[in-house]
Parts: sequence; structure tokens; C-alpha cells
Amino acid sequence: MRKVQTSKTQQKSISELPISALSGIGDTKKKVLNKNEIITIEDLLYFFPRKYVDRNLHDMFFLREGYITLIVKIQSFYLAHGKKSRFIVQCKTLQGNPITLLFFNGIQYYRYAIKKDQTYIVSGNLDNFHGSFQMIHPELEQIDQEDLENAIHFGRIIPIYSTNESLKKVALDSRGIRKLIHQTLKKIETEWNVPELIPEPILKKNNLLQRKEALKQIHYPENQKKLEEAKLTLKYEELFLFSFLMQKKKEIRKSIPREVFPKPFGSCQLYEMLIKNLPFTLTQGQIEAIKRILDLIQGNSMSAFLLQGDVGSGKTLVAFACALHYIENGIQVALMAPTEILARQHYNTLTSLPGLLPGVHLDILTSSETKKNKEITLDRIRRGDSNFIIGTHSLIEENIIFKNLGLVIIDEQHRFGVQQREALRKKGRNPDLIIMTATPIPRTLCLTIFGDLELVYLKEKPAGRKPIKTLWLKEHQRSGLYKSIRKYLNLGRQCYIVYPLIEESEKLDLKAATEGYEELKKIFPEFRVELIHSKLKPEEKEQIMQNFRNGKVQILVSTTVIEVGVDIPNATIMVIEHAERFGISQLHQLRGRVGRGSEESFCILISDSDTENAKERLEALLKTQDGFELAEVDLKIRGPGELLGLKQHGLPNFKIADLIKDRHLVEKAYEDVKEYSELSDEAIKFIKKTYDEGIVDFLI
Ligand code: ADP
Ligand code: MG
Repeated sequence: MRKVQTSKTQQKSISELPISALSGIGDTKKKVLNKNEIITIEDLLYFFPRKYVDRNLHDMFFLREGYITLIVKIQSFYLAHGKKSRFIVQCKTLQGNPITLLFFNGIQYYRYAIKKDQTYIVSGNLDNFHGSFQMIHPELEQIDQEDLENAIHFGRIIPIYSTNESLKKVALDSRGIRKLIHQTLKKIETEWNVPELIPEPILKKNNLLQRKEALKQIHYPENQKKLEEAKLTLKYEELFLFSFLMQKKKEIRKSIPREVFPKPFGSCQLYEMLIKNLPFTLTQGQIEAIKRILDLIQGNSMSAFLLQGDVGSGKTLVAFACALHYIENGIQVALMAPTEILARQHYNTLTSLPGLLPGVHLDILTSSETKKNKEITLDRIRRGDSNFIIGTHSLIEENIIFKNLGLVIIDEQHRFGVQQREALRKKGRNPDLIIMTATPIPRTLCLTIFGDLELVYLKEKPAGRKPIKTLWLKEHQRSGLYKSIRKYLNLGRQCYIVYPLIEESEKLDLKAATEGYEELKKIFPEFRVELIHSKLKPEEKEQIMQNFRNGKVQILVSTTVIEVGVDIPNATIMVIEHAERFGISQLHQLRGRVGRGSEESFCILISDSDTENAKERLEALLKTQDGFELAEVDLKIRGPGELLGLKQHGLPNFKIADLIKDRHLVEKAYEDVKEYSELSDEAIKFIKKTYDEGIVDFLI
């Protein structure tokens, strides 16, 4: 008994065995594998098949119709022209029965790939066509004598891997990888150790396979049922470990004392004053969100929040109200926005608050500040003369030093990466963090991706907002549209006209917008039309926005620079050209620029596109104005990676779990993780290896 125990612990773990532990891996192959991020045996085992083919061999003496796998030798082939070209391959089974293979698509590929006198394994539907057997588009693969002897490539359900050119060059195509995997699976049966990552009770509770078994079955499944179990197990593993990582992050954060904030929050005079001076009353949602945030920061450890609310729900004010509690206690607050226009807008909004709160000293930092002004501002920040600092990415420049930064607010978080967020936080000693989203994010995604943050929801919008009338117009309705716009402009309203980003060509974007602008000037000679785009200097942009804000400009033509955050209540018409080129969330964002005052607002989507995908998106916009609902649709269409720009955030695109289809697993993993504050060393090692440094740096 004891002996077995010792020998077991001496077994090397797959995570410490280099790929060269396999026979047949010389220096060249090793290098290529490493370049493809396959460094250890564990990495190889996590190179999952793209699909599977059932290559259980059938009786080859008596051919029958239906799905079947055969081993055949190629006799001859030719290209037949006719109504439809086809590539015809004559072959014989090992037992000498003639069959014909037919290819209609990818003919060039098969002409090159199929070689005379060679042996192939083919799987597909066998038909009896006028007395002779044929297979149309079979799954096929060349095999050699050695393969025939040890049946790695047939005789069961067989994995198909997709590899790239570099791997193929060193004979690591699907077959090559399969051989390595086959060898590995034998070794983990006898010599190599596959340590468990998920605690045993959790496996039992969720009916999951042991890790070793899951890895075996995911590559060489015994049957369909086992394959499903393996997939489930590995998906769960992925979600569990990521959830653990996020939970740990949250926990560690909680254990870090807040350094610059010694006093507990009491009542806050600045806050009382704000409420008194506001031209409107806070919504119930805002009051609750503020209360929840303040409650959670009562303790002595740092807190981080994700403040979620639909476009126009008034998130800025919530953040500002919370900020006042810090400011009154002599602590600096920084608010980072993704664009200069937005930073300036926040600055203007706050400075124009009636009787802005004595004691709040605002400063703004963007890239367009003059050197001298910047020096003065930096000095004020360093000395603590300013206590609410608004800015763009400029805030994270090295020479900016805060006296005592205690709260970091990030607006429109999707425009920043984790690194930038952290860079700003590092300017304080463990400051609290509030990040705000532009559009809602589905709950499942929040649990995973933002599992380390406290989620705060801002449910309702300020009262008195009328729903935005959304219309989808075709090109031929344009003149009617202009008539209506004129009517509203004459009533004193203003209008945005947005041109889309044409991929990879800012020049073309600008061309479309510029042409539109020239035309609109002719159509609306009695109004002032301006064009704003990203190539303008910051001062020019600001000047145009200023003129639009104070009503001097009636029509603002724009590329997507106005997408985020802009808040001009008198602008009530949003026209979106080529609406099919935008994603749902982006359209919702754009639409959110109107409907901010009490006047009736319109969002006009112009598109002649009739593709299914475009229809689905535009119709979703027509159907609802609920950002949460739209986010769900967007998630379904685009998938989480694109929706959130995960890569850009340094966050993972999951390997096997699908945040949409595997929702129930996400929730389960999230709940299960709560029971564990520690995991095995192997699990931690696995997490560290899998996720970016930016996310795991705290896991010492
Ligand atoms: P978002 O959540 O999209 O960032 P903002 O914070 O820009 O929204 O707020 C949108 C507009 O609503 C701003 O003009 C803001 O002054 C206004 N607002 C915020 N709270 C209220 C409220 N309780 N009642 C009326 N208007 C409000
Ligand atoms: Mg905003």
C-alpha cells in the first residue's frame, strides 16, 4: 500500500513535463510547438479537437448502404465536366470491392491531396447507385502501413484537429497531433500524473469526470455520451478556475486596508448641498445605487464597483455623489474618460452645477493642455489643491503624482484595458474604484468577467423621458426624412447625423462623412451644419461641440466620435447612415444621445441592407429600448469576445466554455467557488499559466 503511494507521488505531473518528453519530438518540432504555445504535455492535452468522425470499421466484405468507414486503395481518378464539375475517384476496399468517391466542392484541393496507389481511410454515406457503390464527399485521410497496424486513426470515434501552416510544415497536421495525443494518453495511463484541479466534492456534486478521464475522453471518446461528459467537465473546469481567480481577486482586495481614508463615512454636507442645488430630484435608482456603494465602503478595506445602467440613466451623478464623500474627507478623486470631448463634458457639467459646492476643486487634464497650464495643474494635483481631477488617458502619464488619491472613477470602461485602469489606481495607495459601463452587460458575463467587482445596478431612467421613436428608412425615403428634420429644426431642435466606420480606412470614413456634410449644407442652407471627426485637433472638436451645445449649430455631421457619453438634451434627432454597419450596442449607444430632454426624440436608421444579420440587429433596435435586452441579443449574435473586446482588456476568450450556451454552468461555478478559499498548488499554477499577467499578478 505504502509503496504504491510513493511511486504515485514520484510520477511527474503533465504540467512539468516538456513536450519533448514524447518520442518523436526533436528540436524542430519542439520549437514550432512552443511557438504555438504548446510547451508542456498539459498544453498539448488542452489542444482540443475541432470535431470528431466516427471511424468504427464496418464489415468490409458485405458492403451496405448508410454511414460507414472503409479502408481503400486509390486506383484512378479524373475530373468530369458537365453541368457541374466533379472529381471522381475510383478505389477498392482492402477486400477488393470497388467503390467510387465523388467530390463537387474543393476539387482543386482533392486533386492535389489524393494520390494514386495510396491507402486512405474514408467515412461517409455509402449509396448504391445503379448497382455500384459510391460515397459523396467522404471524410478522408491518408494512412500508411504502420497506421494500419496500430489503429490510431480508425476503429473508433476519432478526433480531428485544426492546425496551422507552421505546424503542418513539421508534419503536425491533424494526424500528426493525433499521434502525439495518442502517445500521451498511453503515458498518462501508466507513467505520468494528471493532478486534479477541481476539488473532489465538487466533481461528485456536479457529476463530472475525473480530470484524467475527461482529458482522455475529449480526445478519444468511447462514445457520444462520454464525449458530452468530458466536454461538460472541461467547460466546468474552465469556468470554475476563472471564477476562483476573480473571487480571489475580490477577497485579496478586501484584505487590503484603505490607506488614505481613516475616518468612516458619516453624513456628508457636500452631498446634502448637491441634492439641494440640483435642478431635479435623484431617481429612486440613483439613491439606491449611491446608498449601496456608500454602505459597501463603510469598512476599512478597499472596494471596487461596476456601476451598470442603461444609456442616459444618470451614472455620472451617482459617481459624483459618491465622490463628494471622499472630497469632504480631504481625499482626491480622479475620473478618467475615454475621449477629450467626454472629459470636457464632465468638467463643464460639474462646473455648471448651480453654486458648485465650496470645497470641490476641479481640474482637467487632457493632451491638449498647454505646457504651462499643465505644469500648474500638475502642481495643484501634487499639492492636493485640486481634489476632483477629470481627464483622459493623460491621467496615467508618469509625471502625474497625486497627493492622496482615494477614489478612481472610470467612465465607459469598455474603452480602457485592465492595464490602464490599474495604472491609474496605482497612482494612489489602494484607492477605491468605480467603473461605469456604456451599455449594460448581460449578467452571466458580469459574473465571470467582472466577478471581482461588486455589481451595482441603476435600474430606472430619470422621469419625464419620452421613449425615442425609432424608424428604419430606406434610401428612397430620404427626401421625406429631410422634410421632417427641417420641421423639427424650425421648432428649435438639433440633429446628429452619423456616418459609420468603414473598416480599416479612416480616409473613406471621412470621405463619406465629408460628402454627406457638403450635401447637407446645400439641402439645409438656412441652418448651420458642422462636421466633426477624429482627425480634427482637440480644440477644433471642442469648439464645434461647444457651438452645438449652445445651439449655434443645428446639424452636427459626425463619424463615430460622438458615440460615447455626449449629453445635449436639445438634440432630439439622431440619423444613422448605413446603420447596418454598426453593432447593436453601438446603435443603442448612438440612439442614447437623444431622448435626454423632455421633448419627443427620434432615431432614424438608414439602411438598404437586407441581409439576415442586418435585419436581426436593426429590428432588435426597433423592438426595444431596453439596453439589457439588447445586450442579450448582441451577445447572441456577436459572442462575448467581440461584445466586450475581451482581448483588448487582457481577458480570456474561453477555450471550451461558451458564456452564452453554458450560462447555467457559469452560475453553478460562480456559486460553487464561494465554498473554497484555497485550491491546490496545481490549480493555481494552471490558472497563472492560462491567464494574462495583468489579471493574475496578485496571485503571488
Ligand atoms: P449615462 O448614465 O448615460 O452616463 P449621464 O450621467 O450622462 O447618463 O446622465 C444623462 C443626463 O441625465 C444628464 O444630462 C444628467 O444631468 C441627467 N440626469 C441625471 N440624473 C437625473 C435625474 N435624477 N433627473 C433628471 N435628469 C437627470
Ligand atoms: Mg455616461
